[in-house]
Amino acid sequence: MNEQQLSERLEKVVSYVPAGSRIADIGSDHAYLPCYAVQKGQVDFAIAGEVVEGPFQSATKQVQSLDLVKKIAVRKGDGLAVIEREDAIETIVIAGMGGALIRSILEADSAKLAGVKRLVLQPNIAAHQLREWGEVNQWALVAETILREDNKIYEILVLEPSENALVYSGAERLLGPFLMREKSAVFQAKWGHELNNWKGIQAKIDASNAKNAAKLAELDAKIRIIEDVLR
Ligand code: SAM
Repeated sequence: MNEQQLSERLEKVVSYVPAGSRIADIGSDHAYLPCYAVQKGQVDFAIAGEVVEGPFQSATKQVQSLDLVKKIAVRKGDGLAVIEREDAIETIVIAGMGGALIRSILEADSAKLAGVKRLVLQPNIAAHQLREWGEVNQWALVAETILREDNKIYEILVLEPSENALVYSGAERLLGPFLMREKSAVFQAKWGHELNNWKGIQAKIDASNAKNAAKLAELDAKIRIIEDVLR
């Protein structure tokens, strides 16, 4: 993967960035995504935000070596702290982290979301954390994708601010309203695997002396949701 040839995962992520929008890629590592989007002419201005020194240096070198310093600002900082009001950022991308971490980044500095029109989020795990965050903060899901690359399954969530209160069902929160309707082969593989996993855990807890009623009830609820949707 490089700034010209993104992974299938990042290519799908960047496909949700509206043409011409000003973007911030938080947790940018090598700044591949902003470099790709700028080089393709998809966007004119991007922030590549990184909190860790090594990836920050890699991103800085990458942007300098491609002579993109006028269009891509590489900034070191935690989460949304790298965004300033005058940047007028319209789309924020946060990819390749866990859902809980992405949620904590959004919650830590929610004032920075004022004026933002779209979030493109790609959690490696726990996507339900982001659907739940969206529900609580009135960011509606407008698209979802699930894909498999190098034997790993990724979900991409696209959210936009909503005027209306949002209420998702337990199934929609866990599985994704778009994904559960589409029920693709990758979706079925992911949740079939989780189902077996959870049934295994359930059997182990059942067989043990120290039965954890709360954990069993939680597992049971999730198993029933998945069985119902996969049926
Ligand atoms: N976004 C790229 C991708 O999807 O391929 C890189 C993903 S990499 C696994 C996650 C990056 O996020 C790391 O470079 C890490 O240092 C950075 N990161 C983690 N927490 C962060 C935070 N709070 N603020 C900014 N960057 C963060």
